[in-house]
Amino acid sequence: MKIGIIGAGLSGLTCSWYLKKNNIHDITIFESSEKAGGKLKTDHVDGFLLDRGFQVLLPAYPETKKVLDYQKLQLQRFHKGSLIYKNNKKIPFYDPENGFTALLKTVVFGPGTLLDKLILLKLKWTLGRLSVENIFSSKKTISSLSYLRELGFSEKIIEEFWIPFYQGVFLENNLETDSKMLQFTFKMFAEAGAAVPKEGMGAIARQLVDYIGEEKIRYNTKVSHFDNKSITTSDGKTELFDKVVLACNMNNTSSYNAVTNQYFQAEKLPLDTKHVILNASKNRIVNNVVLISNVAANYSKNGKHLISVSANGIYLKADDFLKDLKSMFGSQVDNWKPVKSYIIREALPIINFEKKYKPESPEGVYYCGDHLVQGSINGAMESGRITAEEIIKRL
Ligand SMILES: Cc1cc2nc3c(=O)[nH]c(=O)nc-3n(C[C@H](O)[C@H](O)[C@H](O)COP(=O)(O)OP(=O)(O)OC[C@H]3O[C@@H](n4cnc5c(N)ncnc54)[C@H](O)[C@@H]3O)c2cc1C
Repeated sequence: MKIGIIGAGLSGLTCSWYLKKNNIHDITIFESSEKAGGKLKTDHVDGFLLDRGFQVLLPAYPETKKVLDYQKLQLQRFHKGSLIYKNNKKIPFYDPENGFTALLKTVVFGPGTLLDKLILLKLKWTLGRLSVENIFSSKKTISSLSYLRELGFSEKIIEEFWIPFYQGVFLENNLETDSKMLQFTFKMFAEAGAAVPKEGMGAIARQLVDYIGEEKIRYNTKVSHFDNKSITTSDGKTELFDKVVLACNMNNTSSYNAVTNQYFQAEKLPLDTKHVILNASKNRIVNNVVLISNVAANYSKNGKHLISVSANGIYLKADDFLKDLKSMFGSQVDNWKPVKSYIIREALPIINFEKKYKPESPEGVYYCGDHLVQGSINGAMESGRITAEEIIKRL
């Protein structure tokens, strides 16, 4: 059985991983870029590890648990909850798991009312009891913002916590994303928090490649045409296969949310935290700030601190962020030096959850990718697994 896969992102790599696990070894992956990992890559720049766009792994993801060896990834964990900045004021919103002081600070100084915190506890409890399948099989289609209002949260906590937090998760500002994604990710955050591998997010893809075998991937090889039995590359060569898998959005069938991620280096940190720092001020550009080398020391190997700053949309200059950063951290920001900026125009796909994912088309081509299931590491890997299982079923 000869399989051709187009795309060495997480979905294509996961599909290959399951095929190999089931003793299908004749696999060729065509990858247009120079590296595997697709949207999940880490660059090494001046002694820093720079993820291409701030991303986190939620260790509770059902699909990553099936495939990844977390111990080998040496996950570096964020503290649960967030630290919110609003008009020069710091508002703590910590998970009770961070200890009694954290709980007390959140109850007394946290965003929203006591009732908000009770609704939040109830939500955590309810989602803790729902399975991931139950969440995604719900027929109800409602935006995340309407869902939060329906649950009874006050506008204050929605503005100070939910919107800034989920702007950073969905990479869109109005929380229009289907509430199933909010329920799913909130459940995942609550169960096991967020983490990055010691050597950067790209280590996730590297672990899959190590298992599949580097020799299976043809880098710098763009596919220009395919059907259910053949793949043609941009140099005009055609190869025949028993099964063809399209593991990317080559036909441009989806629209995406965009994000800009600017890295800065600093001699001194503005504060000592492993929480994601949210910006809840009005008219903000900066959405979140992460002291990433404070969470994962290996992200800086040159003695300087590495700070990741994200804003939804497209921003061309580091200066675009400085006004917001100054209002959060004061004049020390003048000493931060830009390291590199990533503008990711096609970051997270906008998903219509009413459309059911089918891994095989009537023409016999197999399809996977986050844009077909869910814009996340979990979604990309789920689609790769389902595609491999469908191929194996047909043997
Ligand atoms: C900035 C950002 C932040 C994110 N944050 C998170 C997060 O915190 N948590 C989370 O779970 N998920 C997050 N995600 C989502 C997650 O990274 C993606 O869902 C996942 O990596 C997508 O994998 P994929 O295989 O579906 O697609 P891709 O990664 O896009 O892979 C497709 C591959 O196909 C290749 N390709 C395309 N066209 C061709 C062609 N013609 N010929 C050959 N090869 C081709 C591409 O080069 C690419 O390598 C984030 C994504 C971004 C961009």
